[in-house]
Amino acid sequence: SIFASAVEKISDIKTLTEEELKNWLKEVGEKPFRADQIRNRLFCGQVKSFDAMETIPAALREKLSASFRITSLEEAKRLLSEDGTVKWLYRTHDGHHIETVLIPTNDRFSVCVSTQIGCAQNCAFCRTAKMGFIRNLEAGEILEEIIRVNWYLEETGTKHSDGSLAKVTNIIFMGMGEPLNNLEQVHRVCCTLHHQKLFNLGRKRMTISTSGVVPKIKELVDRNTPCCLAVSLNSTNDERRSAVMPVNKVWNIAKLLEATDEYTRRTGNYVTFEFVLMKGITCSEEAAKELIRICAPRRCKVNAIVLNDGDDPTLEAPSPEEIENFLEIVRKAEIQITIRNPRGRDILAACGQLAYNTTEGKNKC
Ligand code: SAH
Repeated sequence: SIFASAVEKISDIKTLTEEELKNWLKEVGEKPFRADQIRNRLFCGQVKSFDAMETIPAALREKLSASFRITSLEEAKRLLSEDGTVKWLYRTHDGHHIETVLIPTNDRFSVCVSTQIGCAQNCAFCRTAKMGFIRNLEAGEILEEIIRVNWYLEETGTKHSDGSLAKVTNIIFMGMGEPLNNLEQVHRVCCTLHHQKLFNLGRKRMTISTSGVVPKIKELVDRNTPCCLAVSLNSTNDERRSAVMPVNKVWNIAKLLEATDEYTRRTGNYVTFEFVLMKGITCSEEAAKELIRICAPRRCKVNAIVLNDGDDPTLEAPSPEEIENFLEIVRKAEIQITIRNPRGRDILAACGQLAYNTTEGKNKC
């Protein structure tokens, strides 16, 4: 049969680039212009099956469904926080689990996406680390996390303040996993989101957050991936950073700053340094002064995040006074620092809280 190479439904069709899809169409004797139509239905329409693609001839729809999956995720659980945050637990086609979070703020609908199942970075304060690393997500799976939020917004009749139907407006690559360890797929996702005829999201609306995978920061610049960059600095000296983030033993703070400086120089964009405030570790007067030393000569912003309960009893959140004191010192030095408002803590949807505990046979939602 002409589908011989594709009997196994190996791939999610949403993973394919326009060019790959055109090549496949040629291979199966179809016209390459169908690629645009198919991608339009996948990303702009609300189609949930190949059969629902009315603009595509039935014979081609059959070939498509014999070769690709159109959806890869199944909703296993949905939790609604008292602050409006929504968290989904999805089951992947091969039986693993990931989480996605929708964070609505006025007219903004931000989605925090997972890029890997589990994570290999093993940061002490993060729950995802406890899962270990299982596998990378495909671009199609990551895009589906976003598409499904658009389905939800439509189902619930959510509107923007101008009365139009709400759509996802911002993407943060801050869910499970280290996005830069899955850069090929994350790059594909950003390009599809940025594509004018598809999601049409501007570069500034997508933020990749990394624990500090230095060579991949350079690759991000080389690829010109449409996104902003946030770096989880979290600590200002190597000893303390290595103690909570093993990645620092491979690329220390000096190497990390060299990479972010190059990023700023070559892209013209500033970097956001994320800084998790941990009692006695990163939330001290000394750390604030070190942070000033790092940030004062650079074009950057700091996003402080108060430690969320991450299951490690040795790590604690600082008191409100300690936090205020820290912010005050940094602000006085005219460093741009904002504090991230924790969202969805009651459903374990906040930073560092996404995980699926398979060993206990239940999720930790
Ligand atoms: N692997 C990427 C993206 C996922 S983490 C990275 O490390 O950046 C997203 C953000 O949540 C990071 O800034 C991380 O430092 C922060 N974070 C992780 N665990 C946290 C916790 N328990 N409390 C508050 N922030 C946390």
